[in-house]
Amino acid sequence: MRYASHVADLVGHTPLVRLNRVVADVKPTVLAKVEYFNPGGSVKDRIARRMIDAAEESGQLKPGGTIVEGTSGNTGVGLALVALQRGYRMIFVVPEKFSGEKTAVLRAYGAEIVTVPTNVPPDHPDSYYSVSDRLAAEIPGAFKPNQFANINGPLSHYETTGPEIWDDTEGRVTHFVAGIGTGGTITGTGKYLKDVSDGRVTVIGADPEGSIYSGGPVHGYLVEGVGEDFWPTTFDPSVVDRYERVDDRESFEMTRRLAREEGLLVGGSCGMAVVAALRTARELSEDDVVVVILPDSGRGYVSKIFDDEWMTRNLP
Ligand code: PMP
Repeated sequence: MRYASHVADLVGHTPLVRLNRVVADVKPTVLAKVEYFNPGGSVKDRIARRMIDAAEESGQLKPGGTIVEGTSGNTGVGLALVALQRGYRMIFVVPEKFSGEKTAVLRAYGAEIVTVPTNVPPDHPDSYYSVSDRLAAEIPGAFKPNQFANINGPLSHYETTGPEIWDDTEGRVTHFVAGIGTGGTITGTGKYLKDVSDGRVTVIGADPEGSIYSGGPVHGYLVEGVGEDFWPTTFDPSVVDRYERVDDRESFEMTRRLAREEGLLVGGSCGMAVVAALRTARELSEDDVVVVILPDSGRGYVSKIFDDEWMTRNLP
């Protein structure tokens, strides 16, 4: 019989799917790596598993321990899956603005949620950074993965996402496109692809307009999970050859097209990355193979990006 012994063992080995209609006017093959096939529904399952494995190996996590992280989204789901496989208690610290659907999902996996105010600076005692640090220090046996500073994030991508892309394209990938949140995906995957190809693979960072990474003025934006207003240690900018800045409207219009024209119901950072992949592909030839990461599913955004009224209200 062929079966997994636990759903958390199904992380990784996500498929590559060729994009067709949304890239109809470009010459290269554009392949999407569809990360919603991970058991927690996003690319973050990969880092969750490796951060927990490493903490067990180093003794930071022991049987009966508690995982505390400041996250409302995909990383929380990944951590929850692996934690419940291994019997850890989970506490997620979430800014108020993210409560609702997302925290309901985390609760469904058995996690405890601590809400903190949204508009406080990171060094404020009530910020989600401070509160998660405090809980991790106070609770005996607690461990805070700290995804923005945990090297196991990029390493998980160096060891899994990169080799999967190289193997599935039989070494023919020429360009790799990804959004940047913690930077783990682009750093680990990009570095692996450069190493294995002797620097032949070009790495393109897709960045929301308003994020610090691509150098423009830092301001708010709507696309979730990507862009930052600080430089996390999990991101090695030297891996990125070029950035493409994408605004919310372009990101969300492409996200909606991916559902209607490709049958890929994915999140807003996926639309953003595909816009960057399309711009990249316009300059290339038939021999090029562009691989773009689609980090999560669109299910979490049906009342936002896929809702006409929300779109009109937010992108007037
Ligand atoms: N898109 C979404 C929806 C995400 O949740 C994340 C993770 N924050 C990313 C993209 C970016 O991935 P990374 O943290 O590896 O840069």
